[in-house]
Amino acid sequence: MALGLFGCVCGQFHTPPEGLGLSGDGMIAVPVPFYVLEHPDGVALFDTGLPLGMMDEADPYRGALRAQGADATLTPEETLTAHLERLDIDPARVRWVVCSHLHFDHAGGLAQLPNATLVVQRREWEAGMDRDVARSYFLPRAYFDLGHKLKLVDGEHDLFGDGSAVLIPSFGHTPGHQSLRVRSEAGDHILVGDACYTCEVVETRRFPAFADHAAMNRSLDALLARRDPETVMVFGHDPTQWGDTAVLPTARA
Ligand SMILES: [Zn+2]
Repeated sequence: MALGLFGCVCGQFHTPPEGLGLSGDGMIAVPVPFYVLEHPDGVALFDTGLPLGMMDEADPYRGALRAQGADATLTPEETLTAHLERLDIDPARVRWVVCSHLHFDHAGGLAQLPNATLVVQRREWEAGMDRDVARSYFLPRAYFDLGHKLKLVDGEHDLFGDGSAVLIPSFGHTPGHQSLRVRSEAGDHILVGDACYTCEVVETRRFPAFADHAAMNRSLDALLARRDPETVMVFGHDPTQWGDTAVLPTARA
């Protein structure tokens, strides 16, 4: 059995466009995706979407976002567990959770995955544990330091040992950000994560203010250089890649 890959949208992040390196006025809403990898050895996720608290107007982290002129919204149909149920996957049997990085919109669903081993770059975990670094890169420990088994990796890592899913370090957005190359039944994809928010940013290189821009440029160049002609790049929060034009299967055929 080959590897199955699905893409799920777990809520929306709302921000002025410049916050994502995009142009325009007002607020825009962008999808918060996560990915399901079904391998004969077990189910793995890449990222986990928004925390359940984003369904609640009174959630303190949501309040903090709003105070900064942003917001995040989540409906009951969009939660991580709702997506897994539709795919017939019991959250308790998710074996690995790979987080691209430890921002709340990527690690936020971890609380719903009690038995998973969390797979992150060692330098990302260390950044999350360092109070000052965590503060300057917005790594909220309450969402990721939940007692999961940990697998800390240094650089490239072959997740299943058969080349079908390979973690690629893409530092810069956060100190230990990583991307994932997947060769699955759905084709050949690089799940870029927030190494690049949208297709447009590949050209403009307008990166978020908190990030290390020199490192982001190097990481994005290195990811682009790994493309084969058939490789599809799936960006971190690109509205054009979801909805009616979803870049990946979102349900079983
Ligand atoms: Zn993000």
